[in-house]
Amino acid sequence: MTLPDVAYHRATSLADACRLGEQLGSEAAFLAGGTELLPDYLRQRESARHLIALDGLSELRGIAEDGDTLVIGGLTSIAEVAGSPLVRSWFPALAEAARAIGSPFIRSRATIGGNFCRAVPCADTPPAAVAAGARVRLVGPLGTRELEAGDFIIGPRQTALVAGEVLTAIAIPRQPAASGGSYQRFARRKGAALAVAAVAARVVMDGPVIGDVRLALGAVAPVPMLAARAAARLRGERPSAGLFALAGDECAGEALPITDVRATAEFRRDLVRVLARRALAQAVQRAEGTA
Ligand SMILES: Cc1cc2nc3c(=O)[nH]c(=O)nc-3n(C[C@H](O)[C@H](O)[C@H](O)COP(=O)(O)OP(=O)(O)OC[C@H]3O[C@@H](n4cnc5c(N)ncnc54)[C@H](O)[C@@H]3O)c2cc1C
Repeated sequence: MTLPDVAYHRATSLADACRLGEQLGSEAAFLAGGTELLPDYLRQRESARHLIALDGLSELRGIAEDGDTLVIGGLTSIAEVAGSPLVRSWFPALAEAARAIGSPFIRSRATIGGNFCRAVPCADTPPAAVAAGARVRLVGPLGTRELEAGDFIIGPRQTALVAGEVLTAIAIPRQPAASGGSYQRFARRKGAALAVAAVAARVVMDGPVIGDVRLALGAVAPVPMLAARAAARLRGERPSAGLFALAGDECAGEALPITDVRATAEFRRDLVRVLARRALAQAVQRAEGTA
């Protein structure tokens, strides 16, 4: 197995990256950490003959507060997201999702932008970001635009990006008072194994009842999907194991899993049922300050 001949371009600025990307169109791919792209070349799943390296764009790296938004640069490594005290204090479930990815080596190379832009259904950070109500910032031929994280990924390996557009940041809104989140995933072993199913939750308590809830399912649909029926069942109710079990059943019904080498669709539905219960229990405990 060898890599094909590709032309390598190193973007000198964001504008340069966008210009090159637009000029080369579908012949080109942006190169961030390369942990998706390089294995995909070896599997003959990647056809781009030009790589536009983004590593010189230091302005796309780092995590910073900006008023009511936590801005995570698109080139920020997964290791930095996992270890960031800011991410841990704004929405710990996102740090936990990042921590679940690959191995220490992969996490140190892989970027959060690449995790979103490859749009693999089992990617870990998108469901957590969707549960947090995150937005994705893009710069390119369409100017600067922002999309809901859930609208950015439109299918397996398909995003809303147009040629020459760079994901510059993931923007996490300040979470409401009395809220808590959780990311629960199941993989076939601990360490460097892709999620077979995952559930991210964000619960906002309104006194003794659940005021609002977002449940994002991962690896059980073509895109990270919000379980709307389960959320509707939870709103206005007092948290209890029985309620979480009902919501878990609802999530399992809403999921659109496939059977593949890692699991059957039926097993994935069972996993969603259990993971949703766990995610809700932890999110409520965190919202109530008891976790
Ligand atoms: C052994 C191994 C284990 C793994 N385990 C997991 C896992 O458990 N969970 C998980 O979610 N992932 C896992 N991955 C996948 C991978 O590490 C992540 O998806 C990673 O975050 C991709 O980031 P990258 O910077 O390496 O992307 P790259 O490979 O550089 O790029 C991926 C795609 O995104 C595009 N792209 C990258 N950045 C941008 C940007 N800023 N703007 C526009 N387009 C961009 C590229 O053109 C390319 O199409 C694993 C990978 C390996 C090799």
